[in-house]
Amino acid sequence: MISVKNLKKSFGINEVLKDINCEIKRNEVVCVIGPSGSGKSTFLRCLNKLEEITGGHINIEEIEISDRKVNINRIRQNIGMVFQSFNLFPHLTVIDNITLAPIMLKKINKKQAEEIAYDLLKKVGLIEKVNVYPDKLSGGQKQRVAIARSLAMQPSIMLFDEPTSALDPEMVGEVLNVMKGLANEGMTMVVVTHEMGFAREVSNRVIFMENGYIVEEGEPSQIFTAPQNERTKRFLEKVL
Ligand code: ADP
Ligand code: MG
Repeated sequence: MISVKNLKKSFGINEVLKDINCEIKRNEVVCVIGPSGSGKSTFLRCLNKLEEITGGHINIEEIEISDRKVNINRIRQNIGMVFQSFNLFPHLTVIDNITLAPIMLKKINKKQAEEIAYDLLKKVGLIEKVNVYPDKLSGGQKQRVAIARSLAMQPSIMLFDEPTSALDPEMVGEVLNVMKGLANEGMTMVVVTHEMGFAREVSNRVIFMENGYIVEEGEPSQIFTAPQNERTKRFLEKVL
């Protein structure tokens, strides 16, 4: 579903992604782990063209997204992204946050968009917050609305960049549970996370990044119990 070949990304003279190669299959859940500054966020941002790549190729569902001619908006509609900071629109209620993009970009009528939103709010356990403004929500609730908002565009891939890192510890579980439900439904997901329990339990594959390279990848059972690379070992010793 996603094929990345010799991906390079520099900011000025700072080469952040040096030579990234990976394949992500439909229905796969891939967790990306690694130290701060290793290029994880930049990698995700390249996947939905929030960054212009410096070299290499990214192919998503048979479309070469690095091609300048491709319609960026069409690609982004197909790829949901959830960030560490929830980025809800503060002046819109929960339901309006969720229906805005489908109405504006997909030209779905309001009633239909609201039906989709109700279903999604049920799924993330927040149907009672439908008419509330974001400032009345806890961090965990905001992030669950942000996930629902992404899903409202009916993407075929979801990217998550440390979705629980800004949350108080007691709210991490409710967000991870929503993500776990999504994984169980077969959503193709790429998740940058420090939640090693989630990576171990939910992902099909773990990618360890360091210094702009994928240093090691494998099934979680292998990575977490028998990492092959010294740097993976050292990283896991610190975080586990
Ligand atoms: P991670 O998510 O693994 O912590 P990032 O991808 O955020 O790593 O950052 C990797 C490197 O890229 C860092 O050195 C960071 O300073 C640099 N970087 C990221 N975004 C930009 C940007 N927009 N402009 C310049 N440098 C950036
Ligand atoms: Mg990051």
